[in-house]
Amino acid sequence: MSQQVKEYDVLGVGFGPANLSIAIALEETSKNQDFSYCFLEQKPHFEWHGGMLLDGTRMQISCMKDLVTLRNPTSPYSFVNYLHSHNRLSSFINLGSLHPSRVEFNDYLTWVANQFESVAAYGQRVIDIEPIEVEGSIKKVRVISTDIHGNRTERIAKNILVGMGGMPKLPKQFDGIDDEKVIHSSKYKVWCEKFDSGVDLPRIAVVGAGQSAAEIFVDLTNRFDCGEIHLVNRNFALHPADDSAFVNEIFDPEFTDHIYSSSQQERESILSRFNGTNYSVVDTEELGAIYERLYLQRVTGEGLHKHLRCHDIQEVAVNDTKVSIRYHDRINNTQKWDDYDAVVLATGYRYDEFNHMLDKLAPFMSKKQVERHYRLPMKDNCDVNIFLQGCCESSHGISDTLLSVLAVRSKEIVDSLYAKLSSEIQAVKA
Ligand SMILES: Cc1cc2nc3c(=O)[nH]c(=O)nc-3n(C[C@H](O)[C@H](O)[C@H](O)COP(=O)(O)OP(=O)(O)OC[C@H]3O[C@@H](n4cnc5c(N)ncnc54)[C@H](O)[C@@H]3O)c2cc1C
Repeated sequence: MSQQVKEYDVLGVGFGPANLSIAIALEETSKNQDFSYCFLEQKPHFEWHGGMLLDGTRMQISCMKDLVTLRNPTSPYSFVNYLHSHNRLSSFINLGSLHPSRVEFNDYLTWVANQFESVAAYGQRVIDIEPIEVEGSIKKVRVISTDIHGNRTERIAKNILVGMGGMPKLPKQFDGIDDEKVIHSSKYKVWCEKFDSGVDLPRIAVVGAGQSAAEIFVDLTNRFDCGEIHLVNRNFALHPADDSAFVNEIFDPEFTDHIYSSSQQERESILSRFNGTNYSVVDTEELGAIYERLYLQRVTGEGLHKHLRCHDIQEVAVNDTKVSIRYHDRINNTQKWDDYDAVVLATGYRYDEFNHMLDKLAPFMSKKQVERHYRLPMKDNCDVNIFLQGCCESSHGISDTLLSVLAVRSKEIVDSLYAKLSSEIQAVKA
């Protein structure tokens, strides 16, 4: 029996914080309008970076930068209202910090997402978006998704909201290695809860120099105090994240106008100058705790955990029980092999996956830069609007992949979307 293909004004790809914030903005600004929309999410239920929901980890951002507050401080979907609804507002205030645990922020996001169940389709991984061409012009696209069993569903949409987040980025030395002893940080929690190396005191390498690498190193050293955990860096030192007040202004929504209107050269310079707010940096307190832990090993003479600085990974080999890494130690100018029971790659994310997803629409895209309100410019023969979130860092600034501008960005996108949808309706009526 053939399945009826549903048609929507708007389809979202991914239902993380970005599209969740859009869902709220659509509800709060569309009371008198009748547009159909749905968000397709590959996970079976809402979860915010579940692989890294580790005990003791905190938000790197104020909880005031939630899904709504900077756009609409009176929204019922604010973090403050979440606390109030859970009878924890006073206790949260008593904690004296605007940086909640990640576990709590995930609970807040899930609480909001549950209120938008009716517009979310979970367990739907979008695998393709195809143009529907009628007499040389494109007014709609076909969005193809699969569920966990590989069953395909097609939906038709006039507008697309891309909010897919990042995909694991792996060092090239690990290309083609598909082994359960090598994992990316995005899957860390699930992996380590099942991890059984067959030895009491495992040897594990954590590759990376950022917050996730630091958190995983701390977590592993807590789990396997007497094991041997190596934190492997190309750099000499771990660097602290700069979250000081003046620097933080680059994450203000108003800064997006400034960076977007700057020349490409100026933008590149801003991005590289402020790289240390987000990339390959560690929360200062966490950094101090790691240093102290390694120092204590020297005091007691006990403990095997190490920071391998200036270590370049040259080669990787995997067999049934071990992962072997050949390092070039740039300080001593030596080469050596080290064997591990597992290797965790906390090596970040890439944000270019949308290109593959939109491959078939490429002939209809104009070569211009993405618009200020995140619309991908299309050629005249394509009326489908595609909005990009989380992949516009080079044009819109470092906050593009973060939570900082979500609330305001969602309004910018929704306003632009409504302007397009309304003019379409006017055109149909005329
Ligand atoms: C461990 C960790 C901690 C972080 N902490 C902070 C923080 O404290 N402050 C901050 O500002 N930022 C933080 N970030 C940055 C993070 O990117 C943002 O917090 C936020 O998750 C961005 O939301 P998003 O919706 O753009 O992306 P995501 O949260 O990644 O959501 C994208 C969603 O799209 C889904 N998806 C992807 N591809 C498909 C597909 N083909 N079909 C269907 N669904 C798909 C994914 O399953 C996912 O649910 C953190 C990132 C990590 C990894």
